[in-house]
Amino acid sequence: MFEGKYYNGRTSKGMPAFITLEPTYIRVAWQAGGESGTEIWHLSEIHKSEFNDANTILEYGPFPRQSISVFEQGFKEALEQQYGDAEFLKSSYSSFAKTGITGLVAGGLSLLALAIVLFVWGVPALAEKAAAHFPEEYERALGEQLHAQMMLDQTIDSAKTEAIQDYLAALEVKSDFPITVTVVKNDMVNAFAVPGGFIVVHDGILDEMERHEELAGLLGHEIGHVQMRHSTKAITRSLSYYMLLSILFGDVSGIAAVIVDNASTLHSLEYSRTAESDSDKAGLELLVQNKLNPKGMVWLMERLNSDEPEFLKFISTHPNTSDRIKNIESHIRKTNYKPEPNPELEAAWAKLKDR
Ligand SMILES: [Zn+2]
Repeated sequence: MFEGKYYNGRTSKGMPAFITLEPTYIRVAWQAGGESGTEIWHLSEIHKSEFNDANTILEYGPFPRQSISVFEQGFKEALEQQYGDAEFLKSSYSSFAKTGITGLVAGGLSLLALAIVLFVWGVPALAEKAAAHFPEEYERALGEQLHAQMMLDQTIDSAKTEAIQDYLAALEVKSDFPITVTVVKNDMVNAFAVPGGFIVVHDGILDEMERHEELAGLLGHEIGHVQMRHSTKAITRSLSYYMLLSILFGDVSGIAAVIVDNASTLHSLEYSRTAESDSDKAGLELLVQNKLNPKGMVWLMERLNSDEPEFLKFISTHPNTSDRIKNIESHIRKTNYKPEPNPELEAAWAKLKDR
């Protein structure tokens, strides 16, 4: 039996779960608050999602997919021992050409093509509308590929990743996508969102934070980018020329390859001022929804506003920090509630800072 987190696909809240590998199925026994349940996962419906140093994520069923995330060592080996010839263990990211491209083509190529043509013809507003309507499943599949590709040359901090997932699980979050946060070892003060619910946080930004409300604000901000499809739109825009060429030459696999090859540039995608301000509002809303001190968002910004050179990167992709602080403060003045202590979040935060 393994311990992990269960995500029901409808909320991003991870529920503590025990995972048992039975001969013909996987049993997921979860509990959350006063509720508990058992899910039976038939092997044929399991999609392998991700195996990396930090954890194993399996997804199950049609969209919105359920998923489990297991940090415990030996889980991957146990899966292989128990279900050696199951289909979900055969696919892997190295076979992206097979699974990824089929997904991309089936998922939303016509919309993608439309978006690109509109961009190239100089109608970005229309193109962004098209990008905003990519099917969620397509966007998640794209994000999975990008995230896996990016992680190939990153060092994942698995202890901090586990702690930050615990923190996220204790937050009330609204999102169309399951949210997967990965902490990577990098001094650069940065965090960014990949399409489809993947968020990457540098440990450099965590080191700067002093209060957990700042982390909640940061997660809320990045979840805002995810929810409003900012990175998907930015990718479509920045790669439109290459993608148009691929379409013109009928090289569909080229499109997917170009997107994935450009995964490493994702951390420096620039968003519009409006996109940033909307995401700041989303961060603030997350604090409000969880009855946390809304000032967390301001504290976060003030750290980013410091003169330290390593902040420059984050500021350059997140411009106009002092304007943003003023904006947030004006929204805070409209809120009216008493922040409540949240022992669960504080415990997860203490664990994160400890690691
Ligand atoms: Zn941002």
